Amino acid sequence: MLSVEGLRSRYGRIEVLHGIDLSVGSGEIVTVVGANGAGKTTLLRCLSGVQPVSGGQITFRGEPLTSVPAFRRIQRGLAQSPEGRQIFTNLTVEENLRLGAFIYDDDRVGQDMQDAFAMFPILRDKRDLPAGGLSGGQQQMLAIARALMGRPSCLLLDEPSMGLAPILVAQIFDVVKNLKSLGVTVLLVEQNAFGALSIADRGYVMETGHITLSGTAEDLIADPRIREAYLGV
Ligand code: ATP
Repeated sequence: MLSVEGLRSRYGRIEVLHGIDLSVGSGEIVTVVGANGAGKTTLLRCLSGVQPVSGGQITFRGEPLTSVPAFRRIQRGLAQSPEGRQIFTNLTVEENLRLGAFIYDDDRVGQDMQDAFAMFPILRDKRDLPAGGLSGGQQQMLAIARALMGRPSCLLLDEPSMGLAPILVAQIFDVVKNLKSLGVTVLLVEQNAFGALSIADRGYVMETGHITLSGTAEDLIADPRIREAYLGV
């Protein structure tokens, strides 16, 4: 569904992605794990089209994506839930969800909203309240629900567990795992390597702008290098 070959990106004169190769198959949950500053967010921003690419190719559903503008990528089925959630705190929960569907003007938007409320009942309870009043976990659910309102076939998730209490982290990873049953393909970027690998099919390890290891999630969790560096074992 999504493939990346030799992807490079820079901030000014400093290159931070040095030729990334990865792929995500239809229906898979694939994770990219790595420490703070490894380049994971930059990678996702290149995929969603908000960060310039200085080399390499991105292909999505068989078509080149590298020079397609960000809003068209959403139309093609690629949506991002950004790091730090970036919800609109002064708008209500429902208004935030409607913004996720801004490219649609059809009857299905109402049904999509009902589906979002079925998935996250707390958002239905708080639909008329300002999103800024939600807890961190609820805001993360809203960010995911808002991205789903764009009807993506592939969802890019940037650190959904960041800053959440352990019980909420488990809930969020459950939500991500369940996206699979909705037919949504997921590329999940995480510092929480154990949580991410526990729900993923495959994973990549990123270090200072390079992919240094890849494999099935099961193999990566068992790999002594990963256990020492990322799982604290
Ligand atoms: P985090 O988990 O903290 O988001 P990350 O793995 O997502 O880390 P990036 O945010 O992609 O990493 O950062 C990769 C590198 O690019 C880091 O060295 C970072 O300092 C640098 N960087 C990120 N954003 C900018 C920017 N706007 N201008 C200059 N350098 C940047």
